[in-house]
Amino acid sequence: MDADGDSTAAVATPTPETETKKRKPTETRSVVWQHFEKIYGPDDNLIQGKCMYCSKVYAAESKKHGTSSMKNHTKTCIHNPHAKETRQSKLAFASNSESETVLTNWVFNKDNVRKAMARI
Ligand SMILES: [Zn+2]
Repeated sequence: MDADGDSTAAVATPTPETETKKRKPTETRSVVWQHFEKIYGPDDNLIQGKCMYCSKVYAAESKKHGTSSMKNHTKTCIHNPHAKETRQSKLAFASNSESETVLTNWVFNKDNVRKAMARI
């Protein structure tokens, strides 16, 4: 961790998308830096962020790119343990529609079975 001034009170506070509050020009204190490694350029300026989980590198010059692409990546990174929530809700949704399919198949099969039974 870098010494980033002396007012680093809320560092490890997980903030679930409350970007309306205090927007700083340099987002080096953004939550994404809990998941990304800072990569600095020759001028000692932050240029890239490397995912700690899958080593994917994103442009991080906050003036140009901001951290939104990195933020998105933390949610979708398959190696990120913190992305679990998103994946679980997706999975729940998937399994939901899957069970519907299963049910439809089952009804269909039952009908088939009935037909087959009737033929005997
Ligand atoms: Zn990643």
